[in-house]
Amino acid sequence: MKILIVEDEQKTGDYLKQGLSEAGFVADLVRDGVDGRHLALTDDYDLVVLDVMLPGLDGWQVLREIRQAGRHMPVLFLTARDQVEDRVKGLELGADDYLVKPFAFSELLARVRTLLRRGKSKEPELLQVADLDLDLLRRRVTRAGKRIDLTAKEFALLELLLRRQGEVLPRSLIASQVWDMNFDSDTNVIEVAMRRLRAKIDDDFEPKLIRTVRGMGYVLEIPEAA
Ligand code: CA
Repeated sequence: MKILIVEDEQKTGDYLKQGLSEAGFVADLVRDGVDGRHLALTDDYDLVVLDVMLPGLDGWQVLREIRQAGRHMPVLFLTARDQVEDRVKGLELGADDYLVKPFAFSELLARVRTLLRRGKSKEPELLQVADLDLDLLRRRVTRAGKRIDLTAKEFALLELLLRRQGEVLPRSLIASQVWDMNFDSDTNVIEVAMRRLRAKIDDDFEPKLIRTVRGMGYVLEIPEAA
């Protein structure tokens, strides 16, 4: 089992690396957010121990980028203060657990073992394609950093398309998943909603992400370069 430690405090970092190595893990230590992000995205870790306050990139940014890149290894946050907002923010961004400093090594080790047993089960909280982000917890959609207001149905429709990126979704499936309607229902409702959704997320942006596949349904994907 391979663990990445991202911790800028010399003593804490050394102590974690030594302790985890003695406990039988392969432990790599880096001391800033940029190196942490690089290793987390390019190497294969079973778990990341991530300090919040880091030079370069802070732990939140590192975590956000790990999750946006589709990596779901457990992340254990180390926070200096026991502040509720910090914890909530970390958990919303996809941290699996947190520890408040100072902590006993035995407690860290117990958390690490629990997280590794639990494995990569966590649902992603951010769905993303190109520059389009859908935040499931905050119910918020942005494209190119711009906030886009969607109705509840449009949000559900976009969520479905994003969860099944690259798949052509027949109208009947969309009807049953988003409207709870059966196959024979009037699909005009779907066409109208789809047109509104496309106007909001595609009209003012490139590339166009939602495509109609004639006679089959709809697909959301990054178009192949012409
Ligand atoms: Ca720190």
